[in-house]
Amino acid sequence: MAMALTRSFLEGHEESLIWADFQATAPGGSTSEAAFASARFDLNYDYEWDDSQGAAHGYRVDHVQVTVEVERTIMWSVKKDRSDALLQHEQGHYDIVALLGRDLYNELSGWDSGTKPKRFRKESDLKDEVSRTLRRYKKLALDFAGSSSAVGAYDKKTKHGRDAKAQELWTAALVAARTNGTRVVKALGGL
Ligand SMILES: [Zn+2]
Repeated sequence: MAMALTRSFLEGHEESLIWADFQATAPGGSTSEAAFASARFDLNYDYEWDDSQGAAHGYRVDHVQVTVEVERTIMWSVKKDRSDALLQHEQGHYDIVALLGRDLYNELSGWDSGTKPKRFRKESDLKDEVSRTLRRYKKLALDFAGSSSAVGAYDKKTKHGRDAKAQELWTAALVAARTNGTRVVKALGGL
């Protein structure tokens, strides 16, 4: 990689969805959801050789950049079914992905802090571990929030938001994860 990035940042993780974000045409026929929201996060980083720590020298992740994106062009809603409750349910799909993006950012940024910062002997070791970490977060996003072709735990447990009691629990957990900085796996793990 070695793109010589100049800064670290996390962005796009604090959006509030509105119906105008749902730009695609709703699919015809019967579907179990009245709307579909989608988001993704992408990662950039670079690294450098660090020999300042004596025996702990090695390659270190330098700048971490995580961008969360609302995928408006593939999002759709059935106009007659639009309600505040449905929008809140859809917001949850976004929040899961956005907060996992935040957690990914925090985890990778954290590699360089603490008493024993992560160092790698080889560039390939560093790249492999970053890739594994990114894959783990992508899988969590899929498992929790689902996709256009896979139903995630969020929809299974809340019955696509129709189970008001379960929806309340998930909404509260996501608000807590956002407000307190609780990691998504911890906030949603028991639901
Ligand atoms: Zn849903």
